[in-house]
Amino acid sequence: MKLYNTLTRKKEEFTPLEENKVKMYSCGPTVYNYFHIGNARPFIMFDVLRRYFEYRGYEVSFVQNFTDIDDKVIKKANEEGTTYDVIAERYIKEYFTDAQGLGIKKATVHPKATDNIDEILDIVKTLVDKGHAYDVDGDVYFRVRSFEPYGKLSHQPLDELEAGARIAVGEKKEDPMDFALWKAAKPGEPSWTSPWGEGRPGWHIECSAMARRYLGETIDIHSGGVDLCFPHHENEIAQSEAANGKPFANYWLHNAFLNIDNQKMSKSLGNFFTVRDAAGVYGYEAIRFFMLSAHYRSPLNYSRESLEQAKAALERLNTVFKNLRFLCKNGAEGEMLENELASANALPALREKFCQAMDDDMNTADAVASIFEAVREINTAASGANVTKAYAKTALDFMCELCGVLGIGDTEEQVSGDEAIEALIEARQAARKAKDFKEADRIRDELKAQGIILEDTPQGVRWHRA
Ligand code: AMP
Ligand code: ZN
Repeated sequence: MKLYNTLTRKKEEFTPLEENKVKMYSCGPTVYNYFHIGNARPFIMFDVLRRYFEYRGYEVSFVQNFTDIDDKVIKKANEEGTTYDVIAERYIKEYFTDAQGLGIKKATVHPKATDNIDEILDIVKTLVDKGHAYDVDGDVYFRVRSFEPYGKLSHQPLDELEAGARIAVGEKKEDPMDFALWKAAKPGEPSWTSPWGEGRPGWHIECSAMARRYLGETIDIHSGGVDLCFPHHENEIAQSEAANGKPFANYWLHNAFLNIDNQKMSKSLGNFFTVRDAAGVYGYEAIRFFMLSAHYRSPLNYSRESLEQAKAALERLNTVFKNLRFLCKNGAEGEMLENELASANALPALREKFCQAMDDDMNTADAVASIFEAVREINTAASGANVTKAYAKTALDFMCELCGVLGIGDTEEQVSGDEAIEALIEARQAARKAKDFKEADRIRDELKAQGIILEDTPQGVRWHRA
């Protein structure tokens, strides 16, 4: 598989540190609010990467953190007259609700910054001992000039990066580029005990600490949105490599922005939609499908039309699942027909196409296109009157396999509401068999009132929502 590595600015063949194993770290949300569609982009796209590695037989260790202590979390806690951990716990819970809706699998570990203070302090101490960091009045700063390769991820010389840097009022840094590893406690703020007095971690250090604790000193892949490249990821590299004396991550992956009217969707600009609100309008599945319709390194514009298009495409996909499930139960017995056999034999080439797209820097747009080629193939073969169960099963398994990698479509049978509907349809069939047409009509009307339309076909009763 080839992946575009921000570090080398090239598509490179992925070679893991250990055969058949992948160690991935992705920067997770700051938990002070519901997350928005822009935040959802890395969460969904790197979930797809993880799923694809698993599909290809890798054992994946995937860490995605929660930033549960920072200025925004503290501010929100103060506004509500509560503590930072109450806010963090609430929005971690809400994160999991939305993530589950979006089909994002749980990471192997979802560590919180505040559960890793010892690991953080350990790295900060090492950096101070090695001369890469210094303390001033309870703050500890990383001495950027002491880390010669600084700037290697953003491909900018330190002097250029420095041009925009300022020393803010109250900061006691040696150099404007230096950044805080540890911050002295301010009155009324949560704090932890350290060799430099009470304080709390700076933002960047938590990812260096959690990656090392859960994955080791060198990892395969580190990912996040492109806005994190500088300074966050650049600083993570500096901290980790200066402390451990080893490369931090071999591949750096960054997703492009999700835009709205060609501007980055962001909380600070106020031009955002939360996943929760958008899911209420379009459904979670449509949001995920929409994300997959573009390559993760291309900017993607959020609009009502694009979400509606995604929803319609997803419905086409789910119709195939529904038809195939119906035919698996009600299709003809016996071996596949000739045209079905030809169709079944055409599917592996589409699997190959799907994998080629995914192997090319995770081109989900092309991978989705190859799934829709399969949809056309299957719809043609499965449209006759005598479709066999054998073909339906082959086609269903194929669709489940590929859609399962992307986490789209009804790869699992929807049992919730449907089961009740099917039970009513069976009751109606039983009534008809017993020539109780009054009862049969009553059930039909009851279903109609729920928006369920029945259709009597040679293979039995089919239904759809009006
Ligand atoms: P935050 O909670 O702000 O730290 O962001 C969590 C993740 O969302 C990070 O990987 C960000 O880079 C990413 N992110 C934030 N806004 C956008 C956006 N508009 N498009 C794509 N990714 C974004
Ligand atoms: Zn991070």
